[in-house]
Amino acid sequence: MRELIIPESEEELLRCADRADLILGRGSNLLVADGELDIAVVSTEMLREITFDGDSVTAGAGVTLTELAVKCAEKGLGGLEFAHGIPGSVGGAVFMNAGAYGGEMKDVITSVRAIIGGELIDIPNSDCGFSYRASRFQRSGVVASATFKLTERDKDEIRARMRELSEKRRERQPLEYPSAGSTFKRPEGYFAAALIDEAGLKGASVGGAQVSEKHAGFLINRGSASFDDFASLMEMVQREVYSRSGVMLEPEVRIIK
Ligand SMILES: Cc1cc2nc3c(=O)[nH]c(=O)nc-3n(C[C@H](O)[C@H](O)[C@H](O)COP(=O)(O)OP(=O)(O)OC[C@H]3O[C@@H](n4cnc5c(N)ncnc54)[C@H](O)[C@@H]3O)c2cc1C
Repeated sequence: MRELIIPESEEELLRCADRADLILGRGSNLLVADGELDIAVVSTEMLREITFDGDSVTAGAGVTLTELAVKCAEKGLGGLEFAHGIPGSVGGAVFMNAGAYGGEMKDVITSVRAIIGGELIDIPNSDCGFSYRASRFQRSGVVASATFKLTERDKDEIRARMRELSEKRRERQPLEYPSAGSTFKRPEGYFAAALIDEAGLKGASVGGAQVSEKHAGFLINRGSASFDDFASLMEMVQREVYSRSGVMLEPEVRIIK
């Protein structure tokens, strides 16, 4: 990469945002080309402030969802249990409208503070353009922080729900291998994993990239996968699924090249 900038405050983020070719959260949804990339990256990893105000919490873009859910549980605030096992940051989760087990960012966010047109502005949930794995920030804008409205709940109940969901993830997802999570979005009326499985592609591989045998929605790195291995496997999966079911799978992972 040409440049890595790590702002330590919203003001610093404001000053450097327009230099960024890529805003980097935790990188958990990225498929990045091999070799040297001529890009400037702004990492949000130091934007880690969490502020509670009654049943509201505001978290910086670099706070991890797991840390945020755990801190909210300590305060007896529920609503983010679904997000506990998503390995991303608040900024990446807003950008993707990340979700799991019946919850999505759009259900718990009241507003997002973002840099739009060179200014830091507060955008209410209704103007964030949230829909399935999409937000207005995919067109433009850098997320600085987000405010969530939560619900007072018994701490032990919140923790029990988080443990239950972590257990489900461990049972069903190939967490023992590197991946970017679900490779494809859920097509309306279908499940990507089922379509891939029905096309006979469980375990199919290109180089070190493989369709997980445990969960066909995950393309995993068996240890030595290159970017090209992943890109070729994704294309093969799209082609085979389309020819069998007529459904064109759309990538959920963000490709950086
Ligand atoms: C094992 C595993 C399980 C997963 N399970 C789930 C799941 O259950 N549900 C789900 O929705 N996702 C899941 N994911 C995918 C991923 O964790 C989410 O998409 C997450 O929200 C990405 O956050 P991130 O910080 O890692 O973003 P990154 O991967 O760093 O970035 C993703 C995109 O967001 C942009 N971005 C990041 N931060 C900002 C910012 N502050 N402002 C503007 N743009 C920004 C980036 O430029 C990039 O385009 C999973 C991934 C893995 C590896």
